[in-house]
Amino acid sequence: LLPSALFASPLPLPLKLYNVLTRRKEVFKPLRKDWVGFYTCGPTVYNFAHLGNLRTYVFEDLLRRTLEYAGYRVRQVMNITDVEDKIIRDAKKAGKDIFAFVRPYEAAFFADLQKLNIKKAWKYPKATENIPEMIKLIRQLLKKGLAYRADDSIYYDISKFKPYGRLSGFRKNRTTSGSQTANSYHRIDADEYSKKDVQDFVLWKGKKAGEPFWNADLEKGRLAPTGGDKTRSGILPGRPGWHIECSAMSMKYLGPSFDIHAGGVDLIFPHHENEIAQSEGATGKPFVKFFVEGEHLLVNGEKMAKSLGNIFTLRDLETRGFKPLAFRYLVLTSHYRSKLNFSWKSLAAAQNSLERLYNFIRDLEREHDLERGQKRLLTKTVLTNAEKQFRQALFNDLDTPQAVALIWNIVRDYHQNPASFSPKEVLNLLYKFDRVLGLNLKKIKPAKIPTIIKKLTNQREKLRKKGKWKEADALRAKIKKLGYNIEDTTEGPKITPLS
Ligand SMILES: [Zn+2]
Repeated sequence: LLPSALFASPLPLPLKLYNVLTRRKEVFKPLRKDWVGFYTCGPTVYNFAHLGNLRTYVFEDLLRRTLEYAGYRVRQVMNITDVEDKIIRDAKKAGKDIFAFVRPYEAAFFADLQKLNIKKAWKYPKATENIPEMIKLIRQLLKKGLAYRADDSIYYDISKFKPYGRLSGFRKNRTTSGSQTANSYHRIDADEYSKKDVQDFVLWKGKKAGEPFWNADLEKGRLAPTGGDKTRSGILPGRPGWHIECSAMSMKYLGPSFDIHAGGVDLIFPHHENEIAQSEGATGKPFVKFFVEGEHLLVNGEKMAKSLGNIFTLRDLETRGFKPLAFRYLVLTSHYRSKLNFSWKSLAAAQNSLERLYNFIRDLEREHDLERGQKRLLTKTVLTNAEKQFRQALFNDLDTPQAVALIWNIVRDYHQNPASFSPKEVLNLLYKFDRVLGLNLKKIKPAKIPTIIKKLTNQREKLRKKGKWKEADALRAKIKKLGYNIEDTTEGPKITPLS
């Protein structure tokens, strides 16, 4: 388990999350005493993740960190889809087998997560390593009459699962548009002509020439042993559909019922809807308590599309001289259920703010360094209050824009009346906030002030206190020659490197 119990005991303030299943904010209560089960749909590794994907992963990281801030231990599972139509298509084009093809994208995905300071999940199961679990699930669905075989594939019969549509509001045979997901209702795979109903979805795709496949033993619910009789009835060579991957891998690690499933709004239908149908259909138990879904990212007000040439990756940002964490900051400034409009201008503003925050941290470090030991009177009440407000913001369905605004309130208050704050206590509070925000404040390298400079500065202070202005000025000139500027503030001397 992850060492998240380091945080304070669960706070009395309730954590509220918007649950897409019930379409309202609800108080979060975990199903189990000891841990929270949290499943997040991972990448299909056929390409680099784009900013829209990354926004979702950052939002999920914030949700996970907020749960930890509230005192819960979180078991986060994120799948890696490493067999899928697009992977097979693009691997073929590249003349590689799928395993060799996905490897660099998988590595790039983990590199992106690290650059965005996204905490590691508890498990990252891969689809190709969990095929037996998927076959087992498909067998259960066949036995219950919820799935059927047509030609060499297996489909889910959505007419047999009464609650179908509960999550997305989808109604069977609905043909009118007017819903945000209407355009995806009738997207039919050309190969799936054998389905009973166009709205049924595939669980197992029959083997096709030149494609990777596994021999599913659907009678026993497992992989057929290698070398066995592959022509026996009940053995169906093929590969899993995308939806069944998530049902199988989430329940494998988190059990048939778990607390939170997160993703992007584009996954509500059909992906998450189908996951519910598969899991609840097979187990007869409620699958997930909370579905929490993040909104889209727009680029200059438009949806990302290849044809518009506005699909950017983290590499594109870095090439243009941006820090990945500037993107994280930008994500924080917008609520996860609002569309985030990305532009180079908004990213530059985010980077600017982040730099200002880093400089503030450096100032505090430096002032803390001088150990002037003045009595700070206001700190306690102001900071306690700030922490309360910070919690209130986050526990109100992850109001990160408000949480970020609170940080700037602290910066402003400090600058208005530095004498009332202890730099150390302000720093500690910001570090605490950063356990949720993840801006790496603790890793800010302070502008290193050499000991000799600090020594000279202290000597100069002593001289000034004795009224020896001439000697003090001489020391200041000496410090300047060594590359540092001394600024006398009401707070005492402030040392900054001359750049
Ligand atoms: Zn999924």
